Amino acid sequence: MVLFQRSLIRSLVQGQLSLCAPLSGNESSVPAWCSARSRHRIDRHGCYTTSVIAGVSERTLIAVKPDGVQRRLVGQIVQRFEQRGFKLVGMKLLQAREDILSQHYHDLHKKPFYPNLLRYMSSGPVVAMVWEGHNVVRTSRLMVGNTNPAEAYPGTIRGDYSVHISRNVIHASDSVEGAQREIQLWFDRRELVDWDCCDHSSSYQV
Ligand code: UDP
Ligand code: MG
Repeated sequence: MVLFQRSLIRSLVQGQLSLCAPLSGNESSVPAWCSARSRHRIDRHGCYTTSVIAGVSERTLIAVKPDGVQRRLVGQIVQRFEQRGFKLVGMKLLQAREDILSQHYHDLHKKPFYPNLLRYMSSGPVVAMVWEGHNVVRTSRLMVGNTNPAEAYPGTIRGDYSVHISRNVIHASDSVEGAQREIQLWFDRRELVDWDCCDHSSSYQV
C-alpha cells in the first residue's frame, strides 16, 4: 500500500513538473531554469522534498585559522553558522600546503605582511568548511567582522575572539565568485555533501 502511494505521488508530481530534469541519483541538482513551482521534488524514497531552492544554495568558504584552532574556538564558530541557519556541506581539519595558501592569497603577494601571513597560516592546522544558504557570502562576512579586530564590532567573530590583524581567527570568502574559486581550491567535489536539511522550510519561505 505504501509502495503504491509512493509510486502514485511520484507519477503525479513528475507529471506536473515536466520542466524538471528526470530524477537521477543526485536529487539536489535542480536546473536553474526550473520555475518556482517546479522546485518541489520527490526523492528516490518517494519523499516530498523542498531542499533545493534557487537562490538559497549559495556557498562560501569559511576557515578557522591556526590561532582559532589552537585556542579551541572551532566549536563556537561552527555553532554560530549553524544557529544562523546555514547548512554545513563540507568540513576538514588540515595542515594547509604552501601551494594552496599562495593561490588562496595570490592577490596579496606584494603586500609587506604576505610572508608573515603565509607563516601564520601554515603554523598549525586549519579547519576548512563550506557553508550553504541564502546570501551566505555577504552574511558570513558580516558575522566575521572587520579584517582588523580593533575595528570589528563586538558580536562579530573577530570582534569577540581577536585583538590583532595578524591573528584574526577566521577566513571568509569576500564574493560569490571568490567563494567558488576558493571552494574548488580547498575541496575536492567528492568532499562536499548534498543533503536535505530537515528545518529548511523553517528558514525559508518556499
Ligand atoms: N592581514 C595582515 N595584515 C594586514 C592585512 C591583512 O596580517 O595588514 C592578514 C589577515 O590575516 C587577513 C588576511 O591577511 O585576514 C587577508 O587579508 P584580506 O584583506 O583579504 O582580509 P580578510 O578578507 O581576511 O578580511
Ligand atoms: Mg580576503
